[in-house]
Amino acid sequence: MPLNVHPDIASLVPYLPGKPIEELERELGIPRAIKLASNENPIGPSPKALAALSTEAAGTLNRYPDGGAHRLRRALADRYKLTPDQVILGNGSDEIIGLLARTFLSPGDEAVMADQTFVIYKMEVTAAHGVSVVVPLKEGRHDLPAMAKAVTPKTKLVFVCNPNNPTGTMVPAADVAALMAQVPDDAIVVFDEAYYEYVVSRNFPDSLGYVKQNRNVVVLRTFSKIYGLAGLRIGYGLTTPEITGYLNRLRPPFNANSLAQRAALAALEDEDHVARSRAMNQAEMTRLRRDLVSLGFQPLPSEANFLYFDVGRSGREVFEALLREGVIVRHIEGRMLRVTIGLPEENTRFVDALKRVLPRE
Ligand SMILES: *Cc1c(COP(=O)(O)O)cnc(C)c1O
Repeated sequence: MPLNVHPDIASLVPYLPGKPIEELERELGIPRAIKLASNENPIGPSPKALAALSTEAAGTLNRYPDGGAHRLRRALADRYKLTPDQVILGNGSDEIIGLLARTFLSPGDEAVMADQTFVIYKMEVTAAHGVSVVVPLKEGRHDLPAMAKAVTPKTKLVFVCNPNNPTGTMVPAADVAALMAQVPDDAIVVFDEAYYEYVVSRNFPDSLGYVKQNRNVVVLRTFSKIYGLAGLRIGYGLTTPEITGYLNRLRPPFNANSLAQRAALAALEDEDHVARSRAMNQAEMTRLRRDLVSLGFQPLPSEANFLYFDVGRSGREVFEALLREGVIVRHIEGRMLRVTIGLPEENTRFVDALKRVLPRE
């Protein structure tokens, strides 16, 4: 049957998620596969969140969720000293990226982003018939001065992924201050801070401070990473009441499901789970970095829960060889691999597998 599809949509390539463990086990018949490919929390979900998903919560699944997510928005607002009308929830923060593109881009409008960053930005900008203006990373980091220069009167959105996925690198407060001094007031700067809770650097920018100054800034965070709720799909944006007002015109009314709302509320209070997750990530990232360095690799400095490094040969081949060892990592492009920090035994297995698949000198 003939189909008329807009060339912008036809140009998109479906997002390739990290391979699920079951798929690898089924396809290659490999038992006990491990997945270090999607920056998930290897410890698991917050136990408090699991308790909140008890039969009591599930027993109300015949009802629509609270479309306004009042309790969760109130809890997030209290935590960040904002008002609930400054909080918007999404079916994952991914959904809010799409809402931002569709709400603020007219066809031909520009969105500035790094050339190597979270792939969803480009996808959503294209879907909204906008133009992605990509600025090369500099020494593995967002080049914020070059991004500021790339802003034109057509620029409606500037994406700063901090820490950046897939590199793990961070832009510090001083660089962000310089960017904010240069970007025109009417362009919206989106700080995607999906890995915020993992950051240990003291120079991490206070992006919420700009929201509190009523700048056109959106801070995106998620329950998918340190809180361990990726499967429930819930993330949030913190911004001005004016921006949430516009986003809410396009937001599907029940986009945050009822179980996700309950679990997120409980996870937010589970400081012990967050602290344990952060501590294990720090210790294991240090160990994994050391092991990779001893194999001759140079992972970029990371403030997140993954390491990004040049394997010095076809990344695809190493990725595929690791799959046959039952270890799922992420091949980004060329010689670059991204590996999520797993449990201690998973990281050991990854390093052992990597040693086996590398050609012997
Ligand atoms: C994982 C991730 C997200 C979060 O996505 P969700 O839709 O909330 O699961 C957003 N941005 C970046 C950069 C990420 O890596």
